[in-house]
Amino acid sequence: MMEFALLLAAGAADVPAWVLLAYLVAGVCFILALRGLSSPESSRRGNGYGMVGMAIAVVTTLATHEIASIAEIGMAIFLGGIIGLTVARRIAMTAMPQLVAAFHSLVGMAAVLVAAAAFLNPSAFGILGADGNILAVSRIEMALGAAIGAITFSGSVIAFAKLNGNMSGAPILLPARHVINLGTLGGILALTGLYALSGDAGAGEGMEFWIIVALAFLVGFLLIIPIGGADMPVVVSMLNSYSGWAAAAMGFTLGNTAMIITGALVGSSGAILSYIMCRAMNRSFVSVIAGGFGQDASAGGDKGSAIDRSYKAGSAEDAAFLLSQADKVIIVPGYGMAVAQAQHVLREMTDLLKEKGVEVKFAIHPVAGRMPGHMNVLLAEANVPYDEVFELEDINSEFAQADVAFVIGANDVTNPAAKTDKTSPIYGMPVLDVEKARTTLFIKRSMGGAGYAGVENELFFRDNTMMLLSDAKKMVEEIVKSLD
Ligand code: NDP
Repeated sequence: MMEFALLLAAGAADVPAWVLLAYLVAGVCFILALRGLSSPESSRRGNGYGMVGMAIAVVTTLATHEIASIAEIGMAIFLGGIIGLTVARRIAMTAMPQLVAAFHSLVGMAAVLVAAAAFLNPSAFGILGADGNILAVSRIEMALGAAIGAITFSGSVIAFAKLNGNMSGAPILLPARHVINLGTLGGILALTGLYALSGDAGAGEGMEFWIIVALAFLVGFLLIIPIGGADMPVVVSMLNSYSGWAAAAMGFTLGNTAMIITGALVGSSGAILSYIMCRAMNRSFVSVIAGGFGQDASAGGDKGSAIDRSYKAGSAEDAAFLLSQADKVIIVPGYGMAVAQAQHVLREMTDLLKEKGVEVKFAIHPVAGRMPGHMNVLLAEANVPYDEVFELEDINSEFAQADVAFVIGANDVTNPAAKTDKTSPIYGMPVLDVEKARTTLFIKRSMGGAGYAGVENELFFRDNTMMLLSDAKKMVEEIVKSLD
């Protein structure tokens, strides 16, 4: 509440009290939304709070608009709404991470455009001083806002290209990249100082501003290209955080308290999520921010040739037999379950097993799928009870007592190379110890397809592994038929 009081006091000079109050209520709703989203049970309520808060913020801003007419704003909302609706209806659930990256890039670009508009037309933003120059504090806000926005934009575009397969997921490691990154960031800060102190900073004056924007676009690009393999989840949450700070910076330029509050909430919660993801991935938070995770050029891992090695393939009937004979089964869902949309039939399968007296639990790796919480969302959609779903650290020790580890469309999150192979791009990431179960069943479509990190999983060739080669939904449907 202290922050709100300070923000309100800062904006209180020329803003009506009811507006400040409305923004305060919106801010409280956003905090309640984040609180609600911290657990699957309360997430619907959290979303509700978020929607109410956003409605209050939008209506208040519309009611106090001065520059654009309602018709212009309405037209912008209409066009944006149509585009958003079309994209949301068309997008496949599996392409959500790319979509999120694309949306982050838009927030970043919006911050750059707002800062550029303020730079070119400062009187419209009320940031001109008595000497005809833009106020020094506004110059700092604009420069930093544009810089964070530009970093978010180009970083998100690269993340989009990597997630969407337009660009190889492999890290691109420039020599001396940390020196280049630090030098460029230092350059941005120095130019911000120069611009703030410049005596000539009227509307559109000050080449420093444009150089800052250009350097920041470059930094975003440089920060994300060295990140590859299984480390993209952390990038997505970092960019989420950057987009929040970009929005907060925009809020300062526009003098909009609600935007500052919302941006700060998104920025800080994104940063906390990144920190949690870094811990889950066993990566250093500082090296993530610096870009490149301290990878060395030799890190490539073994792509191997799965097709040449021998493995045991099984049928749905074999799997049904093993599952029905088991006392304890742990299911490990991964990206392939999302691709196949197999979560509903998987729930049916677990219901049948439970009826037969089998204990069934789900083990969720923090980066399974392609976005944080991906598996939890899909399982919740299929009404899998929350108390059957366990995080990695809570269930990993139980694989040794399980009769069957049932891996459905997961690969990297079970790959023991993360524990043993220092050259692997996933080395150091904690993984689910599925190989400790008496039998491990792997559903995937072919022996050729690798996981996101592009490395082979030697568990496929172990004696206690049975490969179920098929589309996940089709295979589980057949298992359900055999169990019936
Ligand atoms: P992986 O990408 O490692 O493996 C997916 C597996 O699913 C593959 O073996 C694939 O094999 C199989 N598969 C794909 N489609 C189907 C289908 N229709 N039916 C059956 N199987 C299918 O997924 P994991 O969940 O194990 O690991 C997630 C990876 O993604 C990690 O490397 C993580 O770092 C990364 N990542 C995670 C993000 C997050 O926030 N969670 C974001 C970005 C990246 P085949 O093609 O042969 O079927």
